[in-house]
Amino acid sequence: MTELHPPRPTVVLVYQRLSLPWIFEGAHRAGIDIVLVPRPDECVSADRLPPAVVEVLPLDVEGDPAKALGILRERHESAPFDGITTPYDPAVPFVADAAEALGLPGLGSETARAVQDKRIMRRRLAEAGLNVPDFVVLDDPGEWAAAARLTFPVVVKPANGFSSLGVTKADSPQQLRAVVEEVWQVCRDSMSHVAGLVVEEYLDGPEYAVESLAHRGEVQVLSIGYKGQPVGPHFEEGVYRAPAPLPPHVQEDLVREVVAAHGALGVTDGPTHTELRLRDGGRPYLLELGARVGGSGVSHYIAAHVTGADLAADALRIAAGLDPCPLPGPPAQPARAIGAAANYIVPCGGSGRIAAIHGLDELAEDPRVDHVLQMLHPGDVVRPYPEFTGYPAFILSHHPCAEDAEEFHRTIEQTVRIDYVPVEGQQ
Ligand code: ADP
Repeated sequence: MTELHPPRPTVVLVYQRLSLPWIFEGAHRAGIDIVLVPRPDECVSADRLPPAVVEVLPLDVEGDPAKALGILRERHESAPFDGITTPYDPAVPFVADAAEALGLPGLGSETARAVQDKRIMRRRLAEAGLNVPDFVVLDDPGEWAAAARLTFPVVVKPANGFSSLGVTKADSPQQLRAVVEEVWQVCRDSMSHVAGLVVEEYLDGPEYAVESLAHRGEVQVLSIGYKGQPVGPHFEEGVYRAPAPLPPHVQEDLVREVVAAHGALGVTDGPTHTELRLRDGGRPYLLELGARVGGSGVSHYIAAHVTGADLAADALRIAAGLDPCPLPGPPAQPARAIGAAANYIVPCGGSGRIAAIHGLDELAEDPRVDHVLQMLHPGDVVRPYPEFTGYPAFILSHHPCAEDAEEFHRTIEQTVRIDYVPVEGQQ
């Protein structure tokens, strides 16, 4: 007689890169089956899928969301799934809409828009009395003069941007018009639609990333990591080291601000990746709160090494309507660090056609390095800033403490180097 097993929970995972393993591994640990909606730019071969993936369902979520929702509805009617989620920021509103339409757990359409649209996010945080830099919303580049009243420098960014796309500093009112026009142009060229721009005061101070998990309105902060202090004019990501060496009272302020931001934006359930800067030596100002696992799963790697949390598995459990595994320690306080982890994001450091990338093979041999993820290769063309081509490579490593991670990054800075050859038509 065949034994009957209860069906395994199934989650539709939208636009997760196959080259990044953590969310698939989390699904495997949680016993959750994945229906993968592949990234349109990624080639998926059926014989090289991670074990958790039971089906591949191509959808054009960005190009034709109505059609994508129709296909999901049919799939759900014929073979119901338990949840839908994404680590890809621009797909967060679509996923929230789909969950709402199909009666599945989710952020809710309104909350998804509040976290994704920087105009709504800034207004909501200000209304809740949180720290917000003075800002002006522009619906059209011709309105640039409205932002000249702000205290300079300022940062100009697309309202619905991601991955620092177009985010540019303007040092003086005289530069503002040109910067606004340039950011608008970059957005028009690279995004399916430009919702408008936000111009806000530049927050002069170090940057931090906070990984959290919310469940039924309780926010558990898993780790606080240092993200460097990029000064612009364009904001390429560089380092991520957790835990950040911060005095306890500054950590508490960061946690308080992050937890309050969840409340202000209405994020009650799921993983979040929040970025903040500390102004005036210690006042936390939110840059953004992504209602998703950060870095396509990098946030899981960091949280796992810093606190032992299983962010990827818990994120999928919550997406499926299941309870996450409880962490020791009270919620709304940073979990105690048991180790350190880091991501070194190899900077493009130039533009043109990549001739060679030096130093990555040696790093792969280092026992502290768990992953060298190479996204750009010799022959690829890196467009000049402010356009965003992507990051050449991530180097993920674990360490006994944050100081060891910092020392390690200092050596990488010396050893990893990209050579370019000029491309005709690029300056
Ligand atoms: P995106 O969602 O495109 O990543 P962010 O608002 O997070 O846009 O900005 C990207 C980066 O630009 C931030 O990580 C930060 O380094 C820098 N940045 C953005 N806004 C400001 C600001 N007001 N002050 C200082 N730096 C900023």
